[in-house]
Amino acid sequence: MTRRLALAFVLAGLAGTPAVAQEKLDWATLGRIRDEGFRHSQVMETAAQLTDVLGPRLTGSPQYKKAADWSRQQLETWGLANARLESWPFGRGWSFERCSAHVVSPMSFPLVALPKAWTAGTNGPVRGKVLRVKAESEADVEALKGKVAGMVLWVGQPRELKAPEDGGIFKRYTDKQLDDLEQYQIPGPRGGGRGPGPFDREAFLKRRKVQQALDKLYAAEKPLAVVEPSERDANVLRLGAGGSRKTGDPQAVTQLVVSATQWNRVARLLDRKTEIEVEVDVKATFHEDDTNGYNVVAELPGTDKKGELVMVGAHLDSWHPGTGATDNAAGSAVMMEVLRILKTIDAKPKRTVRIGLWGGEEQGLLGSRAYVNEHFASRPEPKEAGPDDLPSFMRNDPPAPLTLKPEHAKLAAYFNLDNGTGKIRGVYLQEGAAVKPIFEAWLESVKDLGATRITMRTTGGTDHLSFDGVGLPGFQFIQDPIEYMDGTFFGTHHTDMDTYDRLQRDDLMQAAVVIATFAYNAAMRDEMLPRKPLPPVATPPPAPAPAGKAKGGAKPAPKAVEAVPGAGAR
Ligand SMILES: [Zn+2]
Repeated sequence: MTRRLALAFVLAGLAGTPAVAQEKLDWATLGRIRDEGFRHSQVMETAAQLTDVLGPRLTGSPQYKKAADWSRQQLETWGLANARLESWPFGRGWSFERCSAHVVSPMSFPLVALPKAWTAGTNGPVRGKVLRVKAESEADVEALKGKVAGMVLWVGQPRELKAPEDGGIFKRYTDKQLDDLEQYQIPGPRGGGRGPGPFDREAFLKRRKVQQALDKLYAAEKPLAVVEPSERDANVLRLGAGGSRKTGDPQAVTQLVVSATQWNRVARLLDRKTEIEVEVDVKATFHEDDTNGYNVVAELPGTDKKGELVMVGAHLDSWHPGTGATDNAAGSAVMMEVLRILKTIDAKPKRTVRIGLWGGEEQGLLGSRAYVNEHFASRPEPKEAGPDDLPSFMRNDPPAPLTLKPEHAKLAAYFNLDNGTGKIRGVYLQEGAAVKPIFEAWLESVKDLGATRITMRTTGGTDHLSFDGVGLPGFQFIQDPIEYMDGTFFGTHHTDMDTYDRLQRDDLMQAAVVIATFAYNAAMRDEMLPRKPLPPVATPPPAPAPAGKAKGGAKPAPKAVEAVPGAGAR
């Protein structure tokens, strides 16, 4: 190496390293964000409204619509601009008003049970004999034909329930775990990240076939009810949907999930040839009058770069067993608080800061995908799987080319929060390496709050993917797990213990301050955040409109729903 070349390397190194110093931070405003977020927080009040009053918020249910109306109204009350609902096609809604289930013979005891979403009610109390169903193959299902009409089916396998191994159930990341998280994982052959174990494709396809055969049998022979054990060991019910949300489809038979301990007890009694009777009373309603899903959108208009956008978002919908507190009133309340903080301290971000509260996340990121489609970039939907076809996520189709919309060029960043109530410990870069030095500089100002880590890893399962998938910089934060979904003992994720009481006040306040800091920095930065390479594009992007003129918020979105004054107000 020549001296000259060595010097060039030194200079190049110097040019590369002081990225932290190059990021200009407005420390005065960041201080005001902290003061407002820690001294005058309203995040728990917002969360209480979304859970105790408006939860659960199953997409398509009347409660969801009330929660969307209330959130829109609240954002407007705080002074945010263009607060509106945007609709997209969803399907029929579902809610349940009542559920009781009892073993009534030969002994009597109440069952801890809840109905799966989009399954029918019983039309008053019904009573029937219990039939143990072990369906491991399509032949097993075939053998049940002619035997299940009028019965209560006890479907599943008993599971050995063990005490949680390490005692502690409330979990924060240790330094070691965060170190591990910072280590990149080379993607598996199918792309994407790696789950906890190898994905058994054959087993999955077999289970799917058996389930399809069972669903057919239920529809043909109409058992009184289908009862499955909860996937959680404690007396906690974890459940989602059991039937179709497609308008006009037949209603799936009543399906309940029962606490695992009680399910096991009845299964053991049935194995001893004890004849058992169960009474079930479920009142459930399908809502077909409004088949739209709704997103809530509002913004703090920018100043000299107001044609450009920074977005924060979280899904507002929940499953129905609890009140949807950690999943995801937490994220929604935090993102609403971010906008409230920035508005209240009269921050004057250069770029517009917009919030999106999404519906339909639990059914497949539907709300955020519809929003991205409408505003940023669309691609044809992958073809729906037929009954024997592979589901789209298992096919290895290359993504269809994108059609870009003008706003695609205007989004600086999207920040998402949807991993429970835990405070923010860092950010997933989603493999966007160029953003690393920028986030490192931003984390400097919040490291005393415990947010310090950056990982190149991707993370999945929530709405930042809708943005990331079309080449936009979309990020989800690393959050302490707390009690979200660790292990099989219990956990708030999709369970009836997901209620206001599981929310951690300090953690949510921290998250609001960290995200307000990130959103403000992103809105003030000279340049937008660097992007990853764009996925294949079908048509060349339209020429961007002159700066400051065509702005997303300025023209009403095509499907904007008129604001109803006072609707859903407290
Ligand atoms: Zn969820």
